[in-house]
Amino acid sequence: MVAAKKPIKILLASPRGFCAGVERAIQIVERALELYGRPVYVRHEIVHNRFVVETLETKGAIFVEELDQVPDERPVVFSAHGVPKSVPAEADSRKLLYLDATCPLVSKVHREAERHFDSGRTIILIGHAGHPEVVGTMGQLPAGAVLLVEDVGQVAMLAVPDPLNLAYATQTTLSVDDTVAIVAALRRRFPAIRGPKMEDICYATTNRQAAVKAIAPRCDALVVVGAPNSSNSRRLVEVAANNGCARSRLIQRASDMDWAWLDGARCLGITAGASAPETLVDELIAACRERYELEIEEVRMAEESVVFKLPRALVA
Ligand code: SF4
Repeated sequence: MVAAKKPIKILLASPRGFCAGVERAIQIVERALELYGRPVYVRHEIVHNRFVVETLETKGAIFVEELDQVPDERPVVFSAHGVPKSVPAEADSRKLLYLDATCPLVSKVHREAERHFDSGRTIILIGHAGHPEVVGTMGQLPAGAVLLVEDVGQVAMLAVPDPLNLAYATQTTLSVDDTVAIVAALRRRFPAIRGPKMEDICYATTNRQAAVKAIAPRCDALVVVGAPNSSNSRRLVEVAANNGCARSRLIQRASDMDWAWLDGARCLGITAGASAPETLVDELIAACRERYELEIEEVRMAEESVVFKLPRALVA
């Protein structure tokens, strides 16, 4: 006799998965392939997801880390995370055809930083050292114009040229709660500091974290589908752990699932980072269904209708 499957309840966080900036970046590569044929080069992973990158590779995209790997006669796309100004400058000097897939919400932070710099302010960027978005934002301005802080502890160590002439900006994919604490520490130390009305954390990051916060206290375990180098996905794991679900982890896809880890859980939360396609969530649910009797409840915390336009060069 076949043993009956154990029941498990799945709480599906919503919104989850692809944001408007990721959708646009993928469409830019696909449209460029249609218009210019194979291959189209892409500088850096277009979005931080292996599945997305491999799918685009099968369609004719070639991913490289630097422009010197791109031949003169082929188009190149810059990733959604944004690039330092030196990158389009180099592409211009080589007369490369390039398409910029920088998310418009990242470009907005670039423009904000430039405005503050033009007003004579030093910019303090809250973000993670080495992340491509941080490299891109710092690279909008001359070296030394932007100082990076990663946590509250670093605020006390900041050496600024003029405490009365400061502004802050943030990476778009940070933890909302951690950022509030860092901004508060900056304001305590530098009361004259200027900043955006809201942090620069984007709507997609905010909504995905709010949905995880809503389900975490009800979950025995929570899985975030996303890549280990995806900042917003990693933040979702932390948000779950900080809000009542210590048993939370990141997986790239269902085949990474350690089923023993789930032993004893009666309620499993599932979400996906902004660069993870829904098909990977479906795949995980199907793998759960093979092992458990499922009851699925979707917990929706926001409706999203944001759509970003494609660059003019790609619109027929
Ligand atoms: Fe843009 Fe936010 Fe998506 Fe990043 S996570 S691509 S900033 S919408």
